[in-house]
Amino acid sequence: MRFVVGLTCHECGTRYEPKASYVCSECFGPLEVSYDYDAIRGVMTRDVIESRPPSIWRYKELLPVVEPRTGFHSGFTPLVRATRLARELGVSELYIKDDSVNHPTFSYKDRVVSVAATKAVELGFPVFGCASTGNLAGSVAAHAARLGMQCYVFIPHDLEPNKILGAAIYRPHVIAVEGNYDDVNRLCTEIADRYGWGFANINLRAYYAEGAKSMGFEIVEQLGWRYPDHIVSPVAGGTLLPRIYKGLREFREVGLVSGTLPRIHAAQPAGSAPVVKALEAGLDFPEPVKPNTIAKSLAIGNPADGFQVVKVVKDTGGAGAMATDAEIIDAIQLLARTEGIFTEPAGGTTLAVAKILVQRGIIKPHESVVVCITGNGYKTAEIMRDYVEPPVTIGRKLSDFERVVAPQTVSA
Ligand SMILES: *Cc1c(COP(=O)(O)O)cnc(C)c1O
Ligand SMILES: [Zn+2]
Repeated sequence: MRFVVGLTCHECGTRYEPKASYVCSECFGPLEVSYDYDAIRGVMTRDVIESRPPSIWRYKELLPVVEPRTGFHSGFTPLVRATRLARELGVSELYIKDDSVNHPTFSYKDRVVSVAATKAVELGFPVFGCASTGNLAGSVAAHAARLGMQCYVFIPHDLEPNKILGAAIYRPHVIAVEGNYDDVNRLCTEIADRYGWGFANINLRAYYAEGAKSMGFEIVEQLGWRYPDHIVSPVAGGTLLPRIYKGLREFREVGLVSGTLPRIHAAQPAGSAPVVKALEAGLDFPEPVKPNTIAKSLAIGNPADGFQVVKVVKDTGGAGAMATDAEIIDAIQLLARTEGIFTEPAGGTTLAVAKILVQRGIIKPHESVVVCITGNGYKTAEIMRDYVEPPVTIGRKLSDFERVVAPQTVSA
């Protein structure tokens, strides 16, 4: 908090105290945390950052908390150089930012929740909660358990069973709402107002969003303090993509990196693509859609920060593209087969869109690209059941092996 100067309205610039407010009372624009960059420059150096433990908190000068309370192993996930996948896509320099192994709940949400949960404690909320499409519920419940906080997570009733289990195991109150994510979110906004609870992605949203910048910080640091040419990010509620951008800009602002910002591209499933459709139609504000996709983590039809995504994509010279369910399934298999990384449909969406952007010539063969893989495939494994080969079953004798398996092998 040393360097936080307050919350600033994204639209009209009105300045507020850093409390649990999230909309501007003047114009209803979203509030975001602003910092004293001049004071940070020279304090937050590459050496200082590199000397710290590998978590989001290595960037604490640019995060809005007094003292971290959770997430000591969240973030600083691998940036994997993907050479076999690059060859299949037809590019020379491709990286996977692998949040499928984030700690403790295997998705990008551990970044944002680490900050929101710390803030919920700081601001004295009696209850910590969220409106979730799945991964957020698990992360909020896990961090609440560590902090010993009362926890309520609200989910759409038709979520994947493993995602429900992955939240319920931490013993929060799990409330399944008969409606889609947008209905859940509306209900939670009313509850936050009425009961004064802290919801990670509603009244704590300004802080939650700050956690997502760490994805941008890490990409720069892990590339050896430079920008890539392209970043492909998934879009659900629209938190992540604009905050990757904010992180990239802040690093330049405080002197940690120089050069041209990458082009940032938005990936959505065809069954829930309000932002991509807005980009295609030339609209500044996405029109709500009714989601219908296997990528349930991305099934938000009315994204809170959708207009910010549209703006950032345009400002950076990026593009948007959508992937069908079949393309998503193919991309999940492609990533697993070429790089040994098993992602959920959100990651399949992002990779499928990266592939489309290469095919369209938007990403050129000699340019560097980072693909953000934000969730883990083991949570949604049932979706892939029909796409894997059953095992070859044999008897216990060498002759059984030789009769059934050996004839299929290339060399004896
Ligand atoms: C939440 C989520 C996203 C992106 O969500 P935003 O609301 O746009 O920040 C992407 N992938 C996965 C797996 C998620 O859970
Ligand atoms: Zn305003």
